[in-house]
Amino acid sequence: MKYPKSFEELLDCFKMLPGIGEKNAERLCFAVLHFNEEQAKKFSDSIMNVKTKIKKCNICNNYTEDSEICEICSDSSRDNTTICVVESVKDLILLEKSNAYKGIYHVLEGLISPLEGINPEDIKINQLINRIKDGNVKEVILALNMTMEGETTSLYISKLLQGTGVSVTKIAAGIPVAADMEYLDSLTIQRALEGRNKLSD
Ligand SMILES: [Zn+2]
Repeated sequence: MKYPKSFEELLDCFKMLPGIGEKNAERLCFAVLHFNEEQAKKFSDSIMNVKTKIKKCNICNNYTEDSEICEICSDSSRDNTTICVVESVKDLILLEKSNAYKGIYHVLEGLISPLEGINPEDIKINQLINRIKDGNVKEVILALNMTMEGETTSLYISKLLQGTGVSVTKIAAGIPVAADMEYLDSLTIQRALEGRNKLSD
């Protein structure tokens, strides 16, 4: 026999999540079944909330909830002459957790990858260049991972900014090759930021 219809439907939902197979989905369904009504409502409301309330910051593409501009871009105590370029919001949060950086960010939403057909115009590079043209940016710190895609993207951006008077730096080597930014601890991030290398100015 099969599980009841609603159970099967929830099972299918959990299987939509990365890394969740049949067994795990089954376990999660039983956990939900044991929720009280309040917990179940909280669970389902949160899913709708992340879909309906979260927007992208008009300036840097970070997530924002109550306004068009994210918390970091609207914070006047942040140094808006320095932009740190990251691949995703996940990397931005990681850098924020390290407490080592007080400038602002630009989220590219991807990396250039000729193999996967992702070209410079498919990610938010133009938006970055426009921000730099319009603002008083003095330094762009490239904090992309050290994969081929990350390196290609760093090189592309640094070439675009050559001769603009903006200093382009890259977070320090010493980060193990092919290590994803997300596995780095705060201290390593702090060191990588402090020891950044100049690419062009
Ligand atoms: Zn922002």
